Amino acid sequence: MMKFAEATLLLVDDEPRMLQSLRDLMIASGYKVVTALGGQEAVTRLNGSPIDLMLLDLKMPGFSGHQVMDYLDEKNIDTTVIVVSGETSFDSMSQVLRRRAYDYIKKPYAPDELLQTVENALEQRRLQQQNKEIYNKLQASERLHRYMVNSSPDIVYMLDEKGYFTFVNDRIVQLLGYEKDELIGKHHSEIVYFEDMEQARYVFNERRTDNRIPRNVELRLKCKDADRAPKHFETNTIPIELSATGIYGAGQGGNREFLGTYGVARDMTERKEAERTINFQAYHDLLTQLPNRALFKDRLNLALAQTKRSGQRLAVMFLDLDRFKLVNDTLGHICGDELLQAVSHRLQDCLREGDTLARFGGDEFTLLLPQIYGPEDAESIAKKIIHKIKDPFFIEGHELYVTISIGIAMYPHDGTSMDALVKNADIAMYCIKGRGSNEYQFFRDDMNEVSLRRLSLERGMRKALENNEFVLHYQPQVDAVTGKIVAMEALVRWEQPDQGLILPSEFIGIAEETGLILQIGEWVMRKACETLRSWHNAGVIDIRMAVNLSAIQVEHKSFVNFIMDVIKENSLVGDNLEVEITENLIMQDMDNTIKKLVQLSERGVKIAIDDFGTGYSSLSYLQRLPIHTLKVDRAFVHEINNREDETCIVNAIIAMAQGLNLNLIAEGVETEEQLAYLRNRGCAEMQGFLFSHPLPEPEARRLLLQRPFESSKLMNVG
Ligand code: C2E
Ligand code: MG
Ligand code: MG
Repeated sequence: MMKFAEATLLLVDDEPRMLQSLRDLMIASGYKVVTALGGQEAVTRLNGSPIDLMLLDLKMPGFSGHQVMDYLDEKNIDTTVIVVSGETSFDSMSQVLRRRAYDYIKKPYAPDELLQTVENALEQRRLQQQNKEIYNKLQASERLHRYMVNSSPDIVYMLDEKGYFTFVNDRIVQLLGYEKDELIGKHHSEIVYFEDMEQARYVFNERRTDNRIPRNVELRLKCKDADRAPKHFETNTIPIELSATGIYGAGQGGNREFLGTYGVARDMTERKEAERTINFQAYHDLLTQLPNRALFKDRLNLALAQTKRSGQRLAVMFLDLDRFKLVNDTLGHICGDELLQAVSHRLQDCLREGDTLARFGGDEFTLLLPQIYGPEDAESIAKKIIHKIKDPFFIEGHELYVTISIGIAMYPHDGTSMDALVKNADIAMYCIKGRGSNEYQFFRDDMNEVSLRRLSLERGMRKALENNEFVLHYQPQVDAVTGKIVAMEALVRWEQPDQGLILPSEFIGIAEETGLILQIGEWVMRKACETLRSWHNAGVIDIRMAVNLSAIQVEHKSFVNFIMDVIKENSLVGDNLEVEITENLIMQDMDNTIKKLVQLSERGVKIAIDDFGTGYSSLSYLQRLPIHTLKVDRAFVHEINNREDETCIVNAIIAMAQGLNLNLIAEGVETEEQLAYLRNRGCAEMQGFLFSHPLPEPEARRLLLQRPFESSKLMNVG
């Protein structure tokens, strides 16, 4: 009995004594009790705290028990009612029970019976409430699932056994624009893009019999109205990835019965767009949006195949902007980029449909002209391009003039393969490049390997500077008497990643012609002075650094200042440096060169004439120069094989150096004989493999920190 003690009972009777006895009984049984003297008061109580069960008298003046029950109905109040009444007519009882009363107890009531009835009623109420909760939960979970299905980012659908839609979720409405009602009952093929129909049918039929883990298939679904799909999907479809499962029931004879399919379709628009972008980026130059090298070669290959079949011709052009680097260096990369964009626009204006213009790299473009009749066609396009490029470009407030060099190779005359055509167009371009005069040039057979090698060296050299591929090696200059190292000559090398170490004889000439020697020379000077500083720091203080200079470096207007700046930056003085120039340099602009060399010399820098004896300078010129050292070219040293030979040119040079009171260094000393011969005739300093090859810095440093050369090399001297 105590288990319903927490239940609250409302006792309703118009007779106070009756009410009192009911109250006593219920309280004694442990219930919480509220009383109401009459129907009116009962209504008031019902509006208070919730009542689980009501013991209700029927016949009450003013407000009857029936009216109270009416009120319960009207207000939809959930309270169990047990009627406790003296009225015993069958009518009254059945009426009450037909309504909502749980039971009907006649007055005078038997307390036990009443209590049992109350307890039963409460038990039933408890069960009902439990069921209601379960029911509510069920309803909630149904709502949840519906919500989940409809708010799924994927299309969720069901098809019947023939392929007609029986269910679709909300996503399909947002994605394709169909209303749900429109689709239910429609065959699924009606929204599949026709090219993918076969595929869709296959997937559906496969599910009939085979329900292993479903494969994902890509399909396109038709949008209801135009313009729903992203602009670049020309088909007005949405790409989806579909995964479908078969639904089966228990069929006759234990066979499974195919009821239809259930599927999930994922929108692939974003992924497809990303793929498109990646694809575009792989085949285009992002700055100009032009095809890149890879796409150009693709198209050229295709065009070649077609041209071979049709017997027509085709032209490949290689275009190079002449002064682009200057723009980039002086106005900055942003300006340079804009110029490239503007140039590519103008170039595109000159093209026919079907031509491919590509950015090949840096300031290089390639142009494919398929289906032409002869060189005249290519020529007229080249002329058009040159004409277009002549007008100035206005970039960031600057008026820029650009010239272009165009090389042309024709198929089949100048090559039949993709690589040969591009290479030969490049060679043709290279032959006129840099003249700055807007020209085009057809390839000829005699523009051969030489220019090709030069071409690759020049290209590589530009990159070498950026990639820090140059290194310095150092070769000692030795005092012939004491064996002490008096100077180190810095000799540049190019560590080419593919070709290994390239010696200066191979690239200095090209660097001089292309002007790149200015930057290389600057780098060499800086590096040499830094190295000397580090040697000084390591305790080797009494040596000079000898650095080779090219003519263009000396001609540069800030030549003297640059050298003095580098010396200062490294806390060195002029005396620490010797510059080596060749006679040919002196020939070029005598007055100017003399002026500059004098300025350097006044600041302590030593001047040496390198490879002396091989040039054409006359002695009278030499006298006007502030020279400290003559370096006897190794060709003359090489001639010394025999001590007795007194006719050697070396003798004359030594005599001259002594006469002019100049320091003398013999280059290329390789043998003991040469050393002895030179020393006996008073040549004070030597340089050559006999002492040391040019060495990388760490080894050169080790050599400097050793004792002087005092081995057999110097002892032998007679
Ligand atoms: P160079 O200034 O006359 O340098 C001497 C060259 O003779 C070096 O060649 C050196 O390796 C080589 N040599 C030294 N001792 C011997 C020897 O006993 N026997 C033989 N057969 N050769 C010897 P390398 O390094 O190939 O340099 C060649 C030339 O390139 C240099 O001739 C110099 O004119 C030029 N060069 C080197 N570095 C620079 C540079 O930084 N700037 C400029 N403008 N020119 C440079
Ligand atoms: Mg030299
Ligand atoms: Mg030399």
